[in-house]
Amino acid sequence: MSSKIKILSEDLIAQIAAGEVVERPASVVKELMENSIDAGATSIVVDIKAGGMDSIRVMDDGCGMSKEDALLATERYATSKVQNEEDLYAIQTLGFRGEALPSIASVSKMRLITRDNASQVGTEVSRETGTEVRVSDAGSPVGTSVEVKKLFYNTPVRRRFLKSVGTEFFHIHRIVDQMALSKPDIQFRLIHDGREVLNVPKTDELSIRIEAILGRETYEGLIPVEFQDESISLRGYIGRPTLTVSTARSIFTYVNGRFVRDRTVNRSIFDAYRALIPRDRYPIAILFMDISPHRIDVNVHPTKREIRFRDQERVYRSIHLALQSKLKAVPGDERISRAVETYWQEKGGSGGIGEVTGKYGRKEGEGVERSFVFPEFSQEDQPGGFYSSLLPLAQIGGTYIVCQGPKGMVLIDQHAAHERILFEKLRRQLENATIVRQVLLFPLTVEVSHAEEHILGAYKDQLDELGMEIEAFGGNTFVVKSVPQVVAVEDIGSLLKDIMGELASEGRAFEGKAITERILSTMACHGAIRANRMLRDEEMQALLHDLNQIDFASTCPHGRPIFSEIDYSQLEKMFKRR
Ligand code: ADP
Ligand code: MG
Repeated sequence: MSSKIKILSEDLIAQIAAGEVVERPASVVKELMENSIDAGATSIVVDIKAGGMDSIRVMDDGCGMSKEDALLATERYATSKVQNEEDLYAIQTLGFRGEALPSIASVSKMRLITRDNASQVGTEVSRETGTEVRVSDAGSPVGTSVEVKKLFYNTPVRRRFLKSVGTEFFHIHRIVDQMALSKPDIQFRLIHDGREVLNVPKTDELSIRIEAILGRETYEGLIPVEFQDESISLRGYIGRPTLTVSTARSIFTYVNGRFVRDRTVNRSIFDAYRALIPRDRYPIAILFMDISPHRIDVNVHPTKREIRFRDQERVYRSIHLALQSKLKAVPGDERISRAVETYWQEKGGSGGIGEVTGKYGRKEGEGVERSFVFPEFSQEDQPGGFYSSLLPLAQIGGTYIVCQGPKGMVLIDQHAAHERILFEKLRRQLENATIVRQVLLFPLTVEVSHAEEHILGAYKDQLDELGMEIEAFGGNTFVVKSVPQVVAVEDIGSLLKDIMGELASEGRAFEGKAITERILSTMACHGAIRANRMLRDEEMQALLHDLNQIDFASTCPHGRPIFSEIDYSQLEKMFKRR
């Protein structure tokens, strides 16, 4: 009788094992970047085509490999990082299982080019399938470049499970963000279909890196935390309770430099925020925990995303304590929704200036380290931009800022300027998948017409993504629960009207980028300083400073000019000096 049990072929074994490590293009990016970091790179470039489905290339300037190592690297269970069992319980590197390269090679066409310091010439290793290898000399700087093409070409089922280019790239972007947050001392570049999507220079300051990745708005709402006891040392930043998001995606937790998702850790974070933020909202946290490698086990899952703590309760308590003591120190008014902090009312103004006064003119409660006293040009501000060369002198008509510029006089339309600043801010937040919102302490009810009721019902989810949470309240009444932070609260009713107007005119085309941008620009318009609103000196300076930081700073989102220049030669003509 012939036997039913057969030993699987090498290729098939490799493919099955690969399934655990390589789930989607983002997993490849993660493994390759981890190798680059382990190799001591100071610069990592991730070059992606079609969401990683066409190609993924990760280049680094790390230590590289000799010819012998380059060949071994793609063999299963070949690693330079662990030698004996003891090492396994004292892991200092991100990789250690020696599985990534062979796994990736078994489900793609992989090419590796590398050179180490000791070699005159580089090595190229290409693996067409898991077993077939070609090796040759190749010109290469010191470092490694791994290119992965046709991912899952031989595992059609896996390939079919891949989502759209956009979704796959989103996952890749998140991986790069996760790594970049944890390694400020490494430069990261991310390129998608030839377009540079991210380029963060190396820095000594975690805060600078956080601002570069999560955006200024988020960064400004963060509080630093630091904590140490005998079992854990913890540092990082957590969001003020007023800064919440709709998913847990803004929780970045790391253990010994490795991004991990852990239930105990998350639970302690959420518990610390309980009663400070609405039930359906999530806080923001970037936390780095250092725990003795002997107290954790990272060898739980092939993707190394999960870890096991020897003493979970202790980890829970330490994090909770660290966060709570910080959150307690946030003054009472910070704990209340921003909705009631109408900055400009405090200042006795009348118009809807939200952000400019809020950021630079507002008094902070004692004990808060938020220091946005103007002017404060930090290093990463873009120096030398057009707006940085202007000296604001006065405001006329409550509407135009008069500046002295290098070539003459420059007039700035304050509303158009602020509108563009807010629009760019919103757009950036949307790219990071977190429109920063203010949750209304007293949800606002609005009555709408029958047609509008239909529109709001249909686009509820999309509006939520744009920071506007709306709920049907029965009949033609809706409740607005949150709006983007840039929007002035008393303006919500008219904002909603305008948005419904936009939606009605676009019909069903909401998915399009164009309509999203139109809605963002409507929001920016409603958040921006109005004409006929007096500005203080600091506010004018703040506006110029912000203009200098953004792209597209010559027109408002509706295309109107932000500034107009009258140079000296025109002035001379005016006064018949020439
Ligand atoms: P692991 O990272 O678990 O050791 P991998 O399959 O990811 O396993 O890599 C195998 C080995 O190849 C590593 O241990 C390392 O020695 C070498 N290697 C991989 N990528 C790089 C790189 N970018 N630079 C230098 N060496 C590398
Ligand atoms: Mg590895």
